[in-house]
Amino acid sequence: MKQLWKEAHKVRVKYRGNYVYFRGLIELSNICTKNCLYCGIRRDNHNVQRYQISKEAIINSAKVALDLGYGSVVLQSGERNDSNFIDLISSVLHSIKNLKPDFIPGITLSLGEYPLEVYKEWHKMGATRYLLRVETTKEPLYNALHPDNTLSDRIAALERLKEAGYIVGSGVMIGIPGQQVEDLDKDIDFFKRFGVNMVGMGPYIPHLDTEMGQKNPIKSKEELLELSIDTIAKLRLAMPRINIAATTALQVLHPLARERALMAGANVVMPNVTEIEFKRNYQLYGGKVGVEDDIISTKDKLVNNLSKLKLDIGWGMVGNPE
Ligand code: SAH
Ligand code: SF4
Repeated sequence: MKQLWKEAHKVRVKYRGNYVYFRGLIELSNICTKNCLYCGIRRDNHNVQRYQISKEAIINSAKVALDLGYGSVVLQSGERNDSNFIDLISSVLHSIKNLKPDFIPGITLSLGEYPLEVYKEWHKMGATRYLLRVETTKEPLYNALHPDNTLSDRIAALERLKEAGYIVGSGVMIGIPGQQVEDLDKDIDFFKRFGVNMVGMGPYIPHLDTEMGQKNPIKSKEELLELSIDTIAKLRLAMPRINIAATTALQVLHPLARERALMAGANVVMPNVTEIEFKRNYQLYGGKVGVEDDIISTKDKLVNNLSKLKLDIGWGMVGNPE
């Protein structure tokens, strides 16, 4: 264990205790109108079999997550701007919020950029948190990776989320070709300045259906893992009270990479509660781990790994950032 990681863990325990909070991740659709260069479900990838989970099935997944003792759920999907989709999310939110008579779960959305009115509507219907990664704050790099929007559009969307009343989460990809360690330090400065409440950042992992992913990665898995954990640890030292996710993409680098992140500053994990038939078609990056694991074995594996660490699972806890 590096000194930096130990320091970060100490700070996390001091300010946030030993808890690891679980968020049940529902990947509700892989239909996306955007074409982000790095992403496996980008609009132009015609190898993907597209899906949209029905309202009833989304609500059922949320119920399964809450019944398993996950205090909150994350609804994630490709980006869509049609009114059918916007209305579907609103009605799903309303139902999830009222699933339990005596408990209001944390509900996080991770659906991309929308107008203020839409963000407000979803907030009114029960979403309390929103995850929108800034991906990188290095402007030329951001703009080169995103044919549909600019860094200023992204930051404006984050501002709208604040205005709509959300607990705002953001994040970046680590190890994007063209990104330096100093750029990641500047990303952390941005999170501080903006005052984000949660951060999910993980390694950039090439997806072979994208042109970008077909080029050779510049870092080995070991280097990328170390850089990822270092960046998480630095963030914890910079922002002691926020929620930091040990992201699923880390698992591609090492089977226990998320657990390492949880011992170096991170305090949140997002076990997948999407049915296998759907999640196998939701591949943002290459080599997604656990696509053939059902919801129960996903949970059992994680709980088993965590039992070896001196950490407590926040069963049934919403686990808001401070
Ligand atoms: N469409 C929404 C949510 C789904 S994408 C959005 O874009 O916000 C969620 C995250 O997946 C993105 O923010 C991005 O950081 C990450 N992602 C996409 N492709 C990736 C890749 N190749 N490697 C690592 N992370 C990736
Ligand atoms: Fe769509 Fe999000 Fe992937 Fe961009 S990162 S292509 S918005 S799913």
